[in-house]
Amino acid sequence: MSCLFCKIISKEIPAKTVYEDDTVMAFEDLNPQAPVHILIIPKKHIATSLDISDEDNELIGLLYQAANRIARDKKVADKGFRTVMNCNREAGQTVFHIHLHLLAGRAMQWPPG
Ligand code: AMP
Ligand code: ZN
Repeated sequence: MSCLFCKIISKEIPAKTVYEDDTVMAFEDLNPQAPVHILIIPKKHIATSLDISDEDNELIGLLYQAANRIARDKKVADKGFRTVMNCNREAGQTVFHIHLHLLAGRAMQWPPG
């Protein structure tokens, strides 16, 4: 198993976990791009958002439920936050295990760079 995020799930690599349940894990990004930058991942290995199948529909909803929970816990829900899932290289995906970036704590730019 060579996937970095699978190794975080199995605790082979440490992470600052902020939320975990049977299907989802969330931890602080190592190289934060905003005062709040959390990665929310499914425990199931899915390489890119293109690999999401019908059987994952509930799981994807649970990623967003976790993001909402964390945004409320971090007191950024009302002010606003951004959730981003990059797909493949030109979008900036570097880790090929899907993850929802939760970014908050500063004004976000649009369009994104
Ligand atoms: P992406 O570029 O969308 O694939 O996002 C990958 C994210 O994973 C980047 O924001 C990295 O800073 C982050 N990252 C890489 N390695 C680790 C790690 N060991 N622990 C936490 N975050 C990481
Ligand atoms: Zn993985």
